[in-house]
Amino acid sequence: ALEVRLASRPHGRPTPENFDVVEAPVRAPGDGEILVRNKVMSVDPYMRGRMNDAKSYVPPFQLGEPLDGGAVGEVVTSNSPDIRPGQNVLHQLGWREYATLSAKHATVVSEDVAPLNAYLGVLGMPGMTAYVGLFDKARFRDGDTVFVSGAAGAVGSFVGQMAKLRGAKRVVGSAGSPEKVRHLVDELGFDAAFNYKDGPVGEQLRSAAADGVDVYFDNVGGDHLEAAIAAMNDFGRIAACGAVSQYNATSPEPGPRNMFQFVTKRLSMQGFIVADEGHRKDDFLADVAPWVADGSLRYSETIVDGLRNAPDAFLGVLEGRNKGKMLVTL
Ligand code: NDP
Repeated sequence: ALEVRLASRPHGRPTPENFDVVEAPVRAPGDGEILVRNKVMSVDPYMRGRMNDAKSYVPPFQLGEPLDGGAVGEVVTSNSPDIRPGQNVLHQLGWREYATLSAKHATVVSEDVAPLNAYLGVLGMPGMTAYVGLFDKARFRDGDTVFVSGAAGAVGSFVGQMAKLRGAKRVVGSAGSPEKVRHLVDELGFDAAFNYKDGPVGEQLRSAAADGVDVYFDNVGGDHLEAAIAAMNDFGRIAACGAVSQYNATSPEPGPRNMFQFVTKRLSMQGFIVADEGHRKDDFLADVAPWVADGSLRYSETIVDGLRNAPDAFLGVLEGRNKGKMLVTL
C-alpha cells in the first residue's frame, strides 16, 4: 500500500522533492491492534515544524520514515474486543493508505453523528483549538470585539463564528484573498474582514475595528501581532495559537516593536497547545456539536483527492490554497 515518507528536510519553503510516495508492505495487526483503511487525512500547518530536525512539543518526522497526523478510516481487521471491523476510527497514522495501530490509540467515530471529515475539523483538533483558545486562553466575554487572523482557515473560521455565537460585539478577520474576505462577511457572519495583502495590517485593522480590540486570536504572528497589540484596548487578551507567517523562515523574524504597550494597556498573552487541553473535550463537544447540528456553526472544506496529492495539499495549506479545513481523501 502507498505511504508518504520524508525524503529530505526543507530549508525555507518545502517542495514536492521533500516527500516520497512509495509502496510499502502493510504490517499485520498483533494482539490488541487494528488494521485501518484510511479514508480521509488532515494536513496541518504544524507539520511544517515537524519537518525540521528540531526539538519541539511534538517529535520531528524522521528521514525515510512515513509522516503521521490525524486521519479517519474504516477498521478492516481487529484483534481488540473494543473495536469491530466496519467501524470508523479517528487516529494519528495518516499519510498512508493502511495503518496498523493499537486499538488504544483509536477513537470510534460515527457517520450517524457527523460526516467523517468533521472529526478532523469542526468536531476535531481545529475546532477544539478555536474553542480553548478563545474561551479559556483569551478569556472571551460577551460584548468583546474580537480580531482573528488566518480567519478563513480551519481554526480562524471557527474562532470568529464561536465569538459571534457567544455574543461578541464585533468580529473582524484577516485573510489572504478577496474571495476569502467575501466568504467571511457574506457566509460566516463576520462584521468586517480585510485582505492583509492589500496594505499595512495596522491601518486596515484600525479602520475595521475603530473602537479597538479586546481579544486577538493570533494564527499568524509577525506584522499581524504587532498591529493587534497597537489596536488592543486596555486589559485586552491575546491567544497565541500559531505564527504561520513564520513557519518557513530561515532565521528568526524581528519581534513586535511595541511590547511596552503590554505595560501601558495591561495586556496579557497566553500561548497554548491544544493537545494539553483534553480535560475540555467534553465541554467542547457539548457546546459545539449542537451548533454544528443546527447549522449555526458553518464549516468549509477544501478537499484534495488521492494520497499521491497529499504533499501538494500540505504545501497548499501553507500557501493559503485552502478555504476552511484542508483534507485529503484516500
Ligand atoms: P489554516 O486552515 O488556517 O491554514 C493556514 C492558513 O494560513 C492558510 O490558509 C493561509 O491563508 C494562511 N497563511 C499562510 N501564510 C501566511 C502568511 N504569511 N500570513 C498570513 N497568513 C498566512 O490552518 P489551521 O486552521 O489548521 O491552523 C491555523 C493556525 O493555528 C496555524 O498557525 C497553526 O499552526 C495553529 N494551530 C495551533 C494549534 C495549537 O495547539 N496551538 C493547533 C492547531 C493549529 P491566507 O490565504 O489567509 O493567507
